[in-house]
Amino acid sequence: MRNLFDLTKEELETYFLNIGEKKFKATQVYEWLYQKREYDISKFSNLKKEIRDKLTMDFNTNLITIEKKETDNLTHKYLFRLFDNNFIEAVVMHHDYGSSICVSSEVGCNMACKFCESGRQKKIRNLEAYEIVEQILVIEQDLNMHLSSVVIMGIGEPLDNFANIIRFIKIINDPKGLQIGARHITLSTCGLVPKMYELSKLPLQINLAISLHAPNDQLRNALMPVNKVYNLSTLMQGIKDYLSVTGRRITIEYVMLNNVNDKLEYAQELASLFKGMNIYINLIPYNETNHLEFKRSSKKNIMAFYDCLKKNGLNVTIRKEFGRNINAACGQLRGSMKQV
Ligand code: SAH
Repeated sequence: MRNLFDLTKEELETYFLNIGEKKFKATQVYEWLYQKREYDISKFSNLKKEIRDKLTMDFNTNLITIEKKETDNLTHKYLFRLFDNNFIEAVVMHHDYGSSICVSSEVGCNMACKFCESGRQKKIRNLEAYEIVEQILVIEQDLNMHLSSVVIMGIGEPLDNFANIIRFIKIINDPKGLQIGARHITLSTCGLVPKMYELSKLPLQINLAISLHAPNDQLRNALMPVNKVYNLSTLMQGIKDYLSVTGRRITIEYVMLNNVNDKLEYAQELASLFKGMNIYINLIPYNETNHLEFKRSSKKNIMAFYDCLKKNGLNVTIRKEFGRNINAACGQLRGSMKQV
């Protein structure tokens, strides 16, 4: 039996056509689920009983459950239990302009970035689209609020779970679904270049962020094994092609690791890589974890790096820190949980 939150509106329309019903019934179901937040199919009162019965036979609306929650004033971190007793995380951050959620895309991650807690935990499986949609639904219910933007930057490599991520984006972006505008959705990838090309061809106006973290192959190979498959020049070509196909700006993420990638010569290298391109660089203060030897760059080094990039004409921001007190780096909460 399939989970009803797994279907795009088009898929639900096809379902209704296949059972001899009008396709606008899909819109009605979407309104119950995503606007009225009614998850009991028997209460979908504008559908006749035989349709409700048929739906109940074909679908469930089971939700993933909150296993643990940690809160400081601006951040809520959730650990979810899935139906097969795996765990994933999501984080909510409150900003001046609204609240954003960082969702997980996979159970574990195979990218094995050296500084990343999730990378220590091998991928167990993809998340289904409904398991990503439900991270939003369950948290909105728990906090009794509306989340205005979504970043796909939790556990997992989203482009390694491409089909389900696209389905997830379509569901939350649908005007009858969660109505989260594409420009409020950001997908972050470590650089699976062929999938970036696939993404660029889809008519989705979402934001793309690339986890770069190093301006040359030697350093990037040491930090991110994916670079041995898609090296920097392949990635740079992918970025250029993405920019020209979509016309949309890309965010370059650069996590600041003390004495590893924070030397000024690397800022110079970065500047020459990206000069004149429609990108901006987001410097991310590293969240230290208990298991990994990396340390966060000092404020002074981060500022010097920032100034150097600015002087070279690049758009740069430093990521505001969230949830340092509650181990908000992705994978940290899950890592602290014994698998059952
Ligand atoms: N796999 C995707 C998305 C998940 S990781 C990607 O690589 O982009 C989201 C971002 O968090 C990446 O930029 C990742 O490099 C970064 N990250 C991982 N561990 C971190 C930590 N401890 N502190 C700060 N950023 C971290």
